[in-house]
Amino acid sequence: MSLFSTYNFKDQKALIRVDFNVPLDKQTYAIGDDNRMRAAIPTIQKILKDGGSVILMSHLGRPKEGPETKSSLIHIVGHLQNLISTAMETETIVQFANDCIGDEALTKSAALQSGEVLLLENLRFYKEEEKGDATFAQKLSQLGTVYVNDAFGTAHRAHASTAVIAQFFEKGKKMFGLLMEGEVKAAENVLNKAEKPFTAIIGGAKVSDKILIIENLLERATDIIIGGGMAYTFMKAQGGQIGKSLCEDDRLDTALEILKKAAEKGVQIHLPSDSIVADNFAADANTKVALSNSIPDGWMGLDVGPDACEQFKNVILRSKTILWNGPMGVFEMEKFQNGTKTIAIAVAEATANGAFSLVGGGDSVAAVNQFGFSSKVSYVSTGGGAMLEYFEGKVLPGIAAISE
Ligand code: AMP
Repeated sequence: MSLFSTYNFKDQKALIRVDFNVPLDKQTYAIGDDNRMRAAIPTIQKILKDGGSVILMSHLGRPKEGPETKSSLIHIVGHLQNLISTAMETETIVQFANDCIGDEALTKSAALQSGEVLLLENLRFYKEEEKGDATFAQKLSQLGTVYVNDAFGTAHRAHASTAVIAQFFEKGKKMFGLLMEGEVKAAENVLNKAEKPFTAIIGGAKVSDKILIIENLLERATDIIIGGGMAYTFMKAQGGQIGKSLCEDDRLDTALEILKKAAEKGVQIHLPSDSIVADNFAADANTKVALSNSIPDGWMGLDVGPDACEQFKNVILRSKTILWNGPMGVFEMEKFQNGTKTIAIAVAEATANGAFSLVGGGDSVAAVNQFGFSSKVSYVSTGGGAMLEYFEGKVLPGIAAISE
């Protein structure tokens, strides 16, 4: 059992770093996608049910010059109150402090009673947050008696509230929340306890963004499926004709090196044999199917083709562990959705047959949500950059600060 699950929060003031960096409408400030807020509710609920109180701190957006209305967390208070009240089955008021440190935050946190919740204003209104300033972290630490980090989405940043603050709490008084625990457990399952065959599906636009993750996966996976725009750099590197498909000419050697290493290690790399090609990067472009290594001049590959779908599906269905990061095509446009959708269906089917599947990275998560498959995979990660860095084999400062 984890420290968080066994800890009794009665009469404790739990200072929780959450990731409430949700999209807000530019005019009305209405919340677009509240998944990140929902993901933190079980942690908040457990503390309140134990008889503790909760102080929530988060960043929102990228304010550069101090406080600004569009990045104020005050816009989410009402919705947060609804989510917590529903979870607690009783009306729970969310108080708000207009500053994350200073007198108001100190007074309001000191006055918090068992079962009460306080949300602090945006941490990034202070540049000290991103700088990892220890004095700022210490001021934050004074607001709670226990520190809980539940912000996996920012675990790869050595910021004041995600990493530096932990030093001001003694061992046993700093811990991961349930979301963070779940994320770490799911990632560990894939990274260090993967049952084989282990297939990694890597897509998205650029090879350069995914080199480190592919290199690390070459040590662990049995199969790597490469789709999306990045596949065409591999095609060209092997002498293929790719028309005007996306290509990173300065990464052709890298692509060949990856293929060579994979062959040495016995890892099978699966590239799309065919593609849906378009005469234009547009939703209403003319399309046809072409071999991925002989795309006519003036055409570009915007999705994997029907043979590739079949090929990828078979690999996925015989896998026991699946990691998916990045779409297979320009799934935002209907004509180029099929590859990503086929993968989503195959991953769901493999999961139903007993495989462990983890989907992470902003666009693949958006895709499984869009196609309605999020409940049919084993785990959907809330952390894009954090998840990527974890799978690159890096130590995440937010995790290290609590683990050490
Ligand atoms: P990433 O952020 O690297 O995971 O890339 C995701 C983006 O890659 C999405 O917005 C996709 O539309 C885009 N993408 C996927 N396949 C292609 C392709 N064949 N050509 C151009 N862009 C693509």
